[in-house]
Amino acid sequence: MKRVIISILSVFILILLNASQIYSKDKCGLGVTLDAIRAFDDRLPVLSDEDMKAILEEAKRIISIKLGDRIKIIFRDNGTISLEDLFKDRSYRKIDFYKRLTAWQYDLNLTEILLLLHTKKFKEYIIRFLKQWDINSLKSFFPDKNINNYDDVFYNLMSVYHNRIKWLKSLKISDNEKLVLEPLPPHQSFIEWLGYMWNQDQYDIVFTNGLIIYDLLISPYPHCICKHAKVGGCSFFSPKRVPLDGRSLMVNIFGEYGNIEGICDTRENISRELKNKILGGFVFAHEFGHAFYMLPDVYDHGDTCLMNTSFHTMDNVKGYNLLISDLSPCAKCQPWIVAKEYSVKARLAYEKGDYEKAGELYLKGASETPKLVDANYKFYIKGVYEKALNAFQKANNKYGEKKCRRMIKKLGEKIWRSE
Ligand SMILES: [Zn+2]
Ligand SMILES: [Zn+2]
Repeated sequence: MKRVIISILSVFILILLNASQIYSKDKCGLGVTLDAIRAFDDRLPVLSDEDMKAILEEAKRIISIKLGDRIKIIFRDNGTISLEDLFKDRSYRKIDFYKRLTAWQYDLNLTEILLLLHTKKFKEYIIRFLKQWDINSLKSFFPDKNINNYDDVFYNLMSVYHNRIKWLKSLKISDNEKLVLEPLPPHQSFIEWLGYMWNQDQYDIVFTNGLIIYDLLISPYPHCICKHAKVGGCSFFSPKRVPLDGRSLMVNIFGEYGNIEGICDTRENISRELKNKILGGFVFAHEFGHAFYMLPDVYDHGDTCLMNTSFHTMDNVKGYNLLISDLSPCAKCQPWIVAKEYSVKARLAYEKGDYEKAGELYLKGASETPKLVDANYKFYIKGVYEKALNAFQKANNKYGEKKCRRMIKKLGEKIWRSE
């Protein structure tokens, strides 16, 4: 994403629009308003209003440079709450999505003796997951081990996972205070975040400062497990949120501001200004590319593409500097952006009561979307067809309805998955 410095005039026009209207259109183009909140662990450093402003500005600048500025982004800052308050409502624990995830939860107390880890089903599942990468690229995560096959990767990865978790549990905020709380509060578990964000209907972006342990055994990403087994930034499914079409995102400032030796960046020569630029332009903008444009992590768009994932395994300062070394849009990201624009226009048409046009635009958006998207293609596309169906129903267009139902049926039933 690019931070566009939106002209004062266009900001003014967009602010004047009805606040309940999520998408808006003026002569400057399409706009989207996103609700942001800061949810903080009060034992750790936080962001001031000025930091927040700087991060959002940089996020807009980079999004606009790298992904184009045809869709203007407006942030609505909803202030600060504690992480305990954010997770006060535990109703997400009743939903199916959350329950399925907990079957794959890493238990911090059991670590390697967790029964699931020793089942045939688990090993087979993880090896299938690991086969999305070729064996040579996986070898690089274990430089001092002899890796010949996926079984070797599996055993070594699990061993690293247990060590990382034990190491996280040993970290301290001060001489007599541990970083990981016991019992583990929901805000320190990634699975709880996935459940909470799925169920909530208030926020599009959450900034947090706490440690979030990557406790999702279903997808042990080697770059994540071998680094710190924590979550730095993430895009989620939030079906109740409209602005990002059922997605949301989280930016974690713990790595930049946490100030804990070994896991946070404690280099003294990195200014607050640079930290905020990294958080906005490198972390947030990338997650926004996932959540809004459905862009996947890519490997073949060049080093200065916002979605290039080789960045993620490297130093954030180096990654950010590389990103801004070329201030031109990534041409290879364009197909996802074009597809998304149809959906935004469809939503606008729908809000104006032009249901026929909305249905057609949603269909166009679905057909233009590249097959490789962030998270699950079928899940996302089914959502777009469902919106088209709803629009055609309102327009009383039986032919359109039939077409959407056919496409939805073709996609099948069991298509959800966690990220
Ligand atoms: Zn990514
Ligand atoms: Zn790109």
